[in-house]
Amino acid sequence: MTQESLARAVARDRHLPPAATEGARRYVNAWVEPEALGGERVEAFVLILRTRGCYWADAKGCSMCGYSKDTLGRSATPEELAEQLGRALERYGGQPYVKVYTSGSFLDDREVDPVSRAKLAGAFAGRARRLLVETLPEFATAERVVPLKEAFGGELEVALGLESTDPTVLGKFVHKNAPPSAYLDAADRLRALGASPKAYLLLKPPYLTESEALADTVRSIAEAAPHFDTLSVNPVHIQKGTVVEWLYRRDRYRLPWLWSVVEALREGARVRGSRRLVSFPTAGGLPRGPHNCGRCDRTVLAAIEEASLSQEFEALESLDCSCRSRWESVRELEPLGAEA
Ligand code: SF4
Ligand SMILES: [Zn+2]
Repeated sequence: MTQESLARAVARDRHLPPAATEGARRYVNAWVEPEALGGERVEAFVLILRTRGCYWADAKGCSMCGYSKDTLGRSATPEELAEQLGRALERYGGQPYVKVYTSGSFLDDREVDPVSRAKLAGAFAGRARRLLVETLPEFATAERVVPLKEAFGGELEVALGLESTDPTVLGKFVHKNAPPSAYLDAADRLRALGASPKAYLLLKPPYLTESEALADTVRSIAEAAPHFDTLSVNPVHIQKGTVVEWLYRRDRYRLPWLWSVVEALREGARVRGSRRLVSFPTAGGLPRGPHNCGRCDRTVLAAIEEASLSQEFEALESLDCSCRSRWESVRELEPLGAEA
């Protein structure tokens, strides 16, 4: 099967039938997590809305992304979105940092209509200092960003899934719908509109060895840094119904090591300029997430989190475990796509 037909077959299999009204009234999840605002440690309130989800996930989708399982298979009505927001506000404790995700693009009108977007931003106005939303680059336009900024009044942060600045990695391995230049241009537009652009960079897309993946992330940090305020290194974890899962099940994909995350931050810290460089690995230390030997995972994850919050990366130098030498030999010897 070619990479193209595999991606389309996987997208077809995970397509959801339109959901009933009851499910559409409930958001997917909400929680509080540690974050930093400027130099200050704060709590962030995270909300995942249930929406139509990413249009690109229906057509083909990105090789590592299984977020469409949390979507409706149709657009949510303004009333349903209002109900989800109302329920979420009952759990909101005044955290200064609010992150709202949709398993797609918050700025795509098919996922969240303009009136609902403004209502949501307005609900946190005067209560949160920073509001983060995510979008594909084509929706990062003045027409969508300016009303949102006005409704919120505080700092608006907009995250873009740039993943890699290499056009081949982004197009052929990650399967994004636009080249890296579209993401860099969108970041520049966002900055000009007074929003703060944040880049997600994917560590170890399929079809790259551990060392190729690390080099790709470090180069991407250097090339993205002039355009973004924050660079977030996101190591791959295995999500259901994805190309990455298909390859993983056939022993053709090995999850990234946490040592690679550590190294990406250490090397990235030297090339990021004054930008914020962070990593909060999802499913870290778990079998389907980035992991080391199992004995050192907790310590290494805690050090990664601490470095991300404090922006002090020196402590990462002193981490060690007997599995580090195995990771080093994998970097030298791993054949393409093989299990290490
Ligand atoms: S990673 Fe983003 S663009 Fe790609 S399918 Fe998932 S939600 Fe859509
Ligand atoms: Zn170890």
